Amino acid sequence: MSRRQRTILIADFELPRGAVTIEQLMAMPRAGWEHLRSQINLRRREDRSRPLARCRICEGGIFIRAQADRESHIPMYAHYPEVSRTCPWYEGNNLRPDDARAAQYQGHQESALHRRLCSTIEQLVQADPRCTHTSVNTYLRSEIHKRGRWPDIFADLGESGRFAFEVQLSKPFAPEIAARHLHYDAEGIALVWIFNALEHPMPQGFHDVVAMQRGNAFVFDDEAETVSIERETLVLKCFMENGQGGWREPRLVMLDDLHTGSGRSVFVEDCRSKALRQRCKEKRSRWWDATKLARKDRPNSPEYSHHFEDVWYDMKAGIPGLGEWERDFWIERSHRARAHAVVLYAILCSVAHSAAADRPILHITKFCGESAILSMLNSKLSGFEFKHCASLIEAFVGATSLSGLLEKASLHRFIAQAKQTEVQIDQDHPLWRVMARLFPEVLDGLVRAELADLGQLPDWASPRLGGRTAAE
Ligand SMILES: [Zn+2]
Repeated sequence: MSRRQRTILIADFELPRGAVTIEQLMAMPRAGWEHLRSQINLRRREDRSRPLARCRICEGGIFIRAQADRESHIPMYAHYPEVSRTCPWYEGNNLRPDDARAAQYQGHQESALHRRLCSTIEQLVQADPRCTHTSVNTYLRSEIHKRGRWPDIFADLGESGRFAFEVQLSKPFAPEIAARHLHYDAEGIALVWIFNALEHPMPQGFHDVVAMQRGNAFVFDDEAETVSIERETLVLKCFMENGQGGWREPRLVMLDDLHTGSGRSVFVEDCRSKALRQRCKEKRSRWWDATKLARKDRPNSPEYSHHFEDVWYDMKAGIPGLGEWERDFWIERSHRARAHAVVLYAILCSVAHSAAADRPILHITKFCGESAILSMLNSKLSGFEFKHCASLIEAFVGATSLSGLLEKASLHRFIAQAKQTEVQIDQDHPLWRVMARLFPEVLDGLVRAELADLGQLPDWASPRLGGRTAAE
């Protein structure tokens, strides 16, 4: 960071996210912290009294500020203006959002370019035969009008949906973005943000819009205008994230290409969820590849195979304390921590794969039949070796579609006994963190919450409530 300043070091997010330190925040990929930032702003709009994230010291509501840094942005925590300035982590004279908005919006309101773009877009949408009604700068201004919002275009395309277009030339403010998404979502209107060009580096406000649109940016430039006129309908240039911090070759899209049925977001292709799901599988698939090689190498004791060396080394490089725990484990149990972790991975993999397939698929022990998973878990938890992981296994099973297993008396008893007799590893323990990296959909609160927000939690990682249909 270029300047020294006091800052919030730990934020406590509502569960399941939990504590997120400033170091964790700054180490996140842009998509990760932008998602948090959007969620904080949405909550702020919905219920000011219940901030999604709080300062660890003063418990006041906080948000994520994107601090410009050469080509990019650094996410920082900041207190909302109403919180106590006596907090030792208070960052000093913050630009209050209202002042900032006033300063920015001044003079832009009457922008001739903006007016021209609005009326051009309106005319193009009107050319669509399905269009029954349009308006510029008059519709649905009720609530946010008071806050000095930019004019927008409203278009009713009958069965194809109702659209609000926001033509955004200057950078929008995060609270405004959240406000509009909530507002239009409640009205059943698809909100599409239209830029005139993509700046580089892109201001944070634009990044926030792109985050809301799941990695899509819509641009109405000269080319889009020309094609729109040819096709006699609105055509937008859609930029989609390439997953490496850049854009793919843009596509020209029409309103029919937009997905509008996924909550607050409008997009052509959901680039964020796909990348997030991909990230979730990355480490796990490397362990799975190692498992396959290990089984060939040592059919009777694959966990001791050298094929796990690389993936284990990787974990040790990324998880503080894992190497230390490995040494302690050897001293306590005369057993290799790596082999122990591999077996635990096989146990959890069995649960995950069985949950996904809806039938038992075991990668450890030789139980078969309907209740093979239950028998496997019972046998593992009744022995000494995995008693210290009872809480972890319980949390894992409980977050999958096999959550009903926890109601089985036998498993319930073995978990209770294990907890009574052995100190349990918790989520800060290196072994738990290894498993959280392998199964982030289940064990990483941040990833799990983001997937849930996007409606992308895999079925196998969603607890089945009750487990019975209403008819039974
Ligand atoms: Zn504070």
